[in-house]
Amino acid sequence: MYLPDFDYHAPDTLGGACALLASLGSEMKVLAGGTDLLHKMKVGKLAPKALVSLKRLDALRDIRYQEGRGVVIGALATQSDVVDSPVLHARYPSVSEAAHRMASLQIRNLGTVGGNIVNGVPSADLPPILIALGATIRLVHAGGERTLPLEEFFHGAAETAIAPGEILTEVVIPDGPFTGSCYLKFGLRRSGALAVAGAAAAVQVEGGVIRQARVALASCAPTVIRSPAAEEYLRGKPATPEVLEEAGLRAEADSRPRDSIRGSAEYRRNLARVLTKRALRKAVDEGHGRVKGEE
Ligand SMILES: Cc1cc2nc3c(=O)[nH]c(=O)nc-3n(C[C@H](O)[C@H](O)[C@H](O)COP(=O)(O)OP(=O)(O)OC[C@H]3O[C@@H](n4cnc5c(N)ncnc54)[C@H](O)[C@@H]3O)c2cc1C
Repeated sequence: MYLPDFDYHAPDTLGGACALLASLGSEMKVLAGGTDLLHKMKVGKLAPKALVSLKRLDALRDIRYQEGRGVVIGALATQSDVVDSPVLHARYPSVSEAAHRMASLQIRNLGTVGGNIVNGVPSADLPPILIALGATIRLVHAGGERTLPLEEFFHGAAETAIAPGEILTEVVIPDGPFTGSCYLKFGLRRSGALAVAGAAAAVQVEGGVIRQARVALASCAPTVIRSPAAEEYLRGKPATPEVLEEAGLRAEADSRPRDSIRGSAEYRRNLARVLTKRALRKAVDEGHGRVKGEE
């Protein structure tokens, strides 16, 4: 499999990258890790006339805590950077664990957080946990920038809010009330498989009572979705196995998956229930000790 011909640009400033994107128009594609884009070019699904690589924008690879903003993850951080980040280990180990479950080491060393988001596929592993934690994203273009909640970025399968000429520069997990969070996925192999379905949960538990919860599902709809029914039900309830079971049923009811080669819609709905319940249990455990009644 050979790559088609293309012009290659590797600007060393964000301003330079934005100017290039504006001048090259729709004939170009942004290149990050290339794990998805180069494959699509090799199999003839895409043939951009130019690639604008972000590889030299080192500042976009940083993962840091910024007072008043939260954890800032540069869009060029690789999945391996996320796995190894001391900042994420200390504050949101669930995000590092989600990255650890992705692909293989070789792909994790190349694949970036930005690429995982901009791809816009419903089975992507990082968006669900980032959405559960209330993350926002920053999109920069030659004329300015905008910030939006990550969950508003996804419009449909492979359809996102990114506008021509925009570069996703960072993801911010704001300081939130959550005492624990977790992402679980089910794949057809033990490792290196895309999610048949996935569920992320972030909870605030005080004195055994769930004050707030956010639940996000992967591969259970054309985009990553939240489960309003599960979230509403959990508010103010004790963190008991029965309550978590019921929340799983409500997440199942909110899911609207399709049949695909990796699993039937019915199988995915079941997975939404089971994975939501288990992710909630792990999220509760992380901040609060054991789920009541399971000591
Ligand atoms: C073998 C294999 C296994 C995989 N396993 C998984 C898995 O388990 N879980 C999972 O979620 N995914 C998986 N993937 C999918 C994919 O590799 C990842 O989603 C990866 O994060 C994509 O990032 P990238 O940097 O390689 O993106 P690229 O291929 O460089 O780009 C992907 C798309 O995003 C655009 N883009 C990238 N970065 C930016 C940016 N900062 N601003 C604007 N546009 C941008 C590109 O123009 C392109 O359209 C797998 C892929 C392979 C090949």
